[in-house]
Amino acid sequence: MTQGGKAINTSGGYRDASLSRLAGRVLDALLPPGCPVCNAVVEGAGTICGDCWREINFLGPPQCSACGLPFEFAENDAFSQDVLCGACVRERPPYERARAAMVYGDFSRKMILAFKHADRTDTAPGLGRMLVQAGSDLIADADLIAPVPLHWTRLFQRRYNQAALLAGVVGRVTGKAVVQDLLVRKRKTKPQGRMGPAERRRNLQGAIKVNAAKRDRLASRRVLLIDDVLTTGATATACANMLLRGGAGAVDVLTLARVVRPAI
Ligand SMILES: [Zn+2]
Ligand SMILES: [Zn+2]
Repeated sequence: MTQGGKAINTSGGYRDASLSRLAGRVLDALLPPGCPVCNAVVEGAGTICGDCWREINFLGPPQCSACGLPFEFAENDAFSQDVLCGACVRERPPYERARAAMVYGDFSRKMILAFKHADRTDTAPGLGRMLVQAGSDLIADADLIAPVPLHWTRLFQRRYNQAALLAGVVGRVTGKAVVQDLLVRKRKTKPQGRMGPAERRRNLQGAIKVNAAKRDRLASRRVLLIDDVLTTGATATACANMLLRGGAGAVDVLTLARVVRPAI
């Protein structure tokens, strides 16, 4: 007997669920791996197919040297490395540089949602390599890498922290030290999807702390913070503030995608 798609018979509901997960894993092993966006057959597990790759709106210079917002410049315009966008001129973020591999749009949203919610953890190595490429400067300068933390109740629901998986891949590929629990969430925060910047700041106040047991790893170090998406920057700002307060020398931020709004 099922209700809303969930097995509710008391004798074997949970066993059914774990059996179907197991069956899924067996199928994964038998079927050729699918592109995480369109499911087309691809060569390696978790790699993006050629058609989808061409759809990705990659980010790069010229961009705001602080938050990474891309600028639209004519080809011959001289470009200095240290140009700031209007928002960063008004208020510099606590992190020094934020960079992202691609623009957050319909396409990258699909890819990241599959990674976050559809158990496509097999895509982590491919996505992690995109981070390594987009953040090569930041990674080279970093003393250590840390993910944005997920509250444990949400970790239980989702079973994995997508930022931690990405940080793990970047560490493995580059040989940089990763401290997975450098930051911890002290209380559950509400999903921020529909919140404005001020609301997000309130939601995060006091929610993220430096792990006291890891504080000695932080002193004067340059930390590279990893997350999947930079939206308003509220989470990155809260994390950077806590890291700096905890003694970090500087903080950079690397995400798979960032929201790009027209400059105000
Ligand atoms: Zn595809
Ligand atoms: Zn900026």
